[in-house]
Amino acid sequence: MPKSTPEAASLAPDVLAKYEPVIGLEVHVQLLTRTKIFCGCSTRFGDPPNTNVCPVCLGLPGTLPVVNKRAVEMAMRAALALNCTVHEHSRFARKNYFYPDLPKGYQISQYELPLATGGWLEVEVGGAKKRIGITRLHLEEDAAKNLHEGFSQSATKAYIDYNRCGTPLSEIVSEPDMRTPEEAYAYLTALRQIMLYTGVSDCNMEEGSLRCDANVSVRPRGAKEFGTKVEVKNLNSFRYLQKALQHEIERHVGVLESGGSILQETRHWNQAESRTVSMRSKEKAHDYRYFPEPDLLPVHVSAAWRGEVRRTLPELPDAKRERFASSYGITPYDAEVLTTSRTLADYFEAVVAAGAPGKSSANWILTELLGRLSDRAFADSHMEPAALAELVQLVESGKITGTIGKKVFATMLDSGRSAAEIVAAEGLGAQVGDSAIEQAAREIIAKEPANLAKYKAGNQGVFKFFVGQVMKATRGQANPQAVNDILRKLLA
Ligand code: ADP
Ligand code: ZN
Ligand code: MG
Repeated sequence: MPKSTPEAASLAPDVLAKYEPVIGLEVHVQLLTRTKIFCGCSTRFGDPPNTNVCPVCLGLPGTLPVVNKRAVEMAMRAALALNCTVHEHSRFARKNYFYPDLPKGYQISQYELPLATGGWLEVEVGGAKKRIGITRLHLEEDAAKNLHEGFSQSATKAYIDYNRCGTPLSEIVSEPDMRTPEEAYAYLTALRQIMLYTGVSDCNMEEGSLRCDANVSVRPRGAKEFGTKVEVKNLNSFRYLQKALQHEIERHVGVLESGGSILQETRHWNQAESRTVSMRSKEKAHDYRYFPEPDLLPVHVSAAWRGEVRRTLPELPDAKRERFASSYGITPYDAEVLTTSRTLADYFEAVVAAGAPGKSSANWILTELLGRLSDRAFADSHMEPAALAELVQLVESGKITGTIGKKVFATMLDSGRSAAEIVAAEGLGAQVGDSAIEQAAREIIAKEPANLAKYKAGNQGVFKFFVGQVMKATRGQANPQAVNDILRKLLA
């Protein structure tokens, strides 16, 4: 197998630049309900195959689905957080196709009347903000999972685990608003963050609770009409999404440049070969013979219910980011990192609430805590917000120096002891008395007539030099504020 398709080989950048990519994403998120969408079976991941099944999700004749209200509520939460209009009336529909993972021979989904339409989310790429439209958000059931490996007869047989069948999903379809793989990456990142903030899904890509199909086409720059699109499946990581799009864009340009045309089809991302492979030419939607689901009532969302769900939405990432930047005086970048997850954002605010100043709390969390710990270790660490706040305050008030503070921090992580305890037990407090500081300062000033002259001539920068020398002479154990005060007095 060649590493890259011939069409994609060696496209000059100026050839690529003649075309504009157009990208739209279809994202499935698994809703965090305890039970399935139309029966009471558990949605737990990782249970032995075919243990969470019943006549309803196995599609046995004579059974009737009953909609899980919690799933509707979760989808509504997602829709409202994505600025969609949630419709008072929506309807389930049957999407008919034959595949072993679909025991009924159809999937219950929503088609003509989806739960929600017309939303957007904002992404930021290269410093520029952009709104990506969301066409629709609907509810549907997941299919079963085909298992091709791990069984004694896997070489000749496929196995099916129906545990996943009937798991509630929301499909979120974007407008074809993205123009680069980076924008697609940013969209999926923002979408995932909103789903996590709202608790709608755990968005675990490895477990399949976040899945993304990418639609992509190219058109000559300046053209009004979109080009023919291809749908790329099997994008099970953010990185693959970006790589597959880049590959596919180059393939399209290669085909068009050599006088060919793009076939509308579904392709599969083959990570091992770093290329997309044709799966099937695209079925037209009518091939699914959609029709309204006769076994379920239309979904009715009252204004009261919608309002109730809206009221329970948490502060969303964008709003939190802006509030952090403006009310704690931290940089937009720091605000962005601190709001990556709700856990981290809440942790930061708990440190501040325990009495530490915002800006220095942010610094300690971003450089020390996150610098030393991976995300997982952060979640497992026993650094209570109040404990970190105490340390920050010890440093801020000059009771210990910043350098000592970092050592205390490391000891806290290892031992779980409090900052005050460690400082007292190890005699780390800024114990150099004022007279000792003054003596050190006098000696240094006497040794540095040239720098003293510079200072007297108005060179303020030299002051820092003197502070540094005194701190060094006192082995970093002096209270920096005291050093500053004493030097100002002596140099005046
Ligand atoms: P289909 O009928 O094939 O499902 P849709 O119009 O429903 O197509 O769109 C499916 C997805 O493809 C949406 O996310 C949409 O934004 C995107 N899309 C539609 N047309 C194009 C195009 N020409 N290029 C790239 N993406 C597109
Ligand atoms: Zn069931
Ligand atoms: Mg469609």
